[in-house]
Amino acid sequence: MRRLPHWFDGSPQPVREGRWLDVHDPCTGEVCAQVARGDADDAARAVAAAAAAFPAWSGLRNSERSAWLEKLASALESRLDDFARAESLDTGKPLRLSREVEIPRAVSNLRFFAHAATQSASQSHHGEAGLNYTLRQPLGVVATISPWNLPLYLFTWKIAPALAAGNTVVAKPSEITPLTATMLAELAAGIGFPPGVLNVLHGRGDEAGEALVAHPQVRAVSFTGSTGVGRRIAALAGPALKKVSLELGGKNPTLVFADGPWREQMDTIVRSAFQNAGQICLCGSRLLVEQSIYDEFRDAFLSAAAALRCGDSEDPATGLGPLVSQAHCDKVLACIARARDEGGRVLLGGERLARPGWFVPATVIEGLGPETATNREEIFGPVATLQAFDDEAGALQLANASDYGLAAMLWTRDLDRAHRLAARLQAGIVWINAWLLRDLRTPFGGTGASGLGREGGEEAMRFFTEPRNVCLSIAP
Ligand code: NAP
Repeated sequence: MRRLPHWFDGSPQPVREGRWLDVHDPCTGEVCAQVARGDADDAARAVAAAAAAFPAWSGLRNSERSAWLEKLASALESRLDDFARAESLDTGKPLRLSREVEIPRAVSNLRFFAHAATQSASQSHHGEAGLNYTLRQPLGVVATISPWNLPLYLFTWKIAPALAAGNTVVAKPSEITPLTATMLAELAAGIGFPPGVLNVLHGRGDEAGEALVAHPQVRAVSFTGSTGVGRRIAALAGPALKKVSLELGGKNPTLVFADGPWREQMDTIVRSAFQNAGQICLCGSRLLVEQSIYDEFRDAFLSAAAALRCGDSEDPATGLGPLVSQAHCDKVLACIARARDEGGRVLLGGERLARPGWFVPATVIEGLGPETATNREEIFGPVATLQAFDDEAGALQLANASDYGLAAMLWTRDLDRAHRLAARLQAGIVWINAWLLRDLRTPFGGTGASGLGREGGEEAMRFFTEPRNVCLSIAP
């Protein structure tokens, strides 16, 4: 049985007997590894290691930090296949997805912020009151907490800018998918990455996670996860006035207008609902369709979604992997049962597959209005609903009938309408005739129940630094 310890100060840490948690393979439900169950003492040791490493790391030239991140990116790239297999084992996702999208994206995250370390600049202001320049200084020890749905992709999305800006990091991956974060810590040690700069703390959120957030030496918390836990972290960080970045849940609308390229882009629309079994915060779970094409769209969408074959991660024919855990599978099935109770008609899927593992096929539901829990609460599974609208105003009203505001997808060829709606949709990201097209320089994040703050490019570099204005009086 593979055991995954914490990694502090460049080394694996001994774990007391009885302090291990089981990790499951979602394709079979079997235990495939064990991970350390960290507590407040472990969090304190991780923070101590990061604090000791901070002066030297923050004192490096930007180009030296950049070189370390670049070296880590190249080391990861050279082990891409091992990491992809590990990611798929931990999450159950199709190997193709790990190999072609997620691990390459983790490499890009490290490389992108390696460049940011040398390209990021600060401002100066003059001509009004002296000469002012802004110093952007690292914060110190920062915590990153990431979820199970895109494990290494989101782990690197946080640690890379934090390290590029000169901070040292204690990173807590999800206890459900701890494999690739552990492998990255091991890889970093193997290339001689300075010890203590990147520390991986495992364990449950309510134990290791909370202890980390509350630790007095942790200066900022970058969190991606559910809205409920985001609120809890904000409450814990608030009294100490720590900086927090919260990337939370979504209930994203996909607006399909009759004039949009939906017939030729049906594959993308289906992917936007069901990729990673719908366990992506950016998936479109509410399909809003113009009444005049509703029947035709529904039939085409159902037939494309029905073609997504559930299967093992290694099988190239697999279109849909399992849900990540027994608990999450139970939650998704309860949401489908609630949709039926609310009067929804399940047109496709809706039942767990009779095979080992936590497989629920693509599920499509119609007949529910915007006020239902099904259309208001995040399900985070392979479940999409269909609603019809008559005109642009109706589409906007349905789209914005949500407490969340992460992403919105718009399928139309009418340019005026596209820009008009892009400005009015309640969302941090609007895709027009596209989905998941990402330029890492753009601001990423949501409004309302979807979070606080933005990640990506300069936004991330700003979050992980403290600005200081220096004002110099110039004699006339
Ligand atoms: P989660 O339960 O909120 O957990 C996220 C992370 O927080 C995990 O590492 C978890 O540890 C930890 N955690 C849990 N309780 C904590 C606490 N009290 N204090 C500190 N840390 C705590 O979310 P999830 O179920 O893993 O992920 C799914 C959610 O993430 C969905 O809502 C999804 O929309 C959201 N998400 C958002 C984005 C975005 O960019 N906006 C991206 C991806 C996912 P354990 O796993 O060990 O409990």
